[in-house]
Amino acid sequence: MIETEHESLLESIHGVLKTVTDPEIDSVSVLDLGMVENVEVEGSSAKVSVLPTFTGCPALDIIQRDIVNAVIEVEGVDEVEVSFLSNPIWTTDRITELGKSQLKEFGIAPPPANHNPGEPWEIPCPYCGSVFTTMENLFGPTACRCILYCKSCKNPFEAMKPVANIGDE
Ligand SMILES: [Zn+2]
Repeated sequence: MIETEHESLLESIHGVLKTVTDPEIDSVSVLDLGMVENVEVEGSSAKVSVLPTFTGCPALDIIQRDIVNAVIEVEGVDEVEVSFLSNPIWTTDRITELGKSQLKEFGIAPPPANHNPGEPWEIPCPYCGSVFTTMENLFGPTACRCILYCKSCKNPFEAMKPVANIGDE
């Protein structure tokens, strides 16, 4: 019975985390971005472990605040702690299928799955699906995104850079 309460509390927390979004991409939840590594509940205190998407993204304070504000609203939770983990490393492969389609709706081409670093990176246009695109600017608005230009439908669009776990793994 206690176990059931515990699980429904965890479920409620996951439910509200679906409403917390990256302030820069406000159509995709932190869950669908694959940022939430772990949720723990002990008594009435919740602990959410989050993987920062890109070290360069300045939105982490806002994400932390938003997670606290959302989770504290869950009945049975009195205390929320958010910690950012540096391990495991977040990779774009963690983005869910739903997250990828939401990125696309937002006009951001989702990163390719299982991209091997160093390989040419082909990005289909989120508007027309053409792969006849050029990279305009490697360093778009943030370090995580870049601006591309579609030669088929003539739309500029943004793409998330593939981030792979490079190194000793
Ligand atoms: Zn296009």
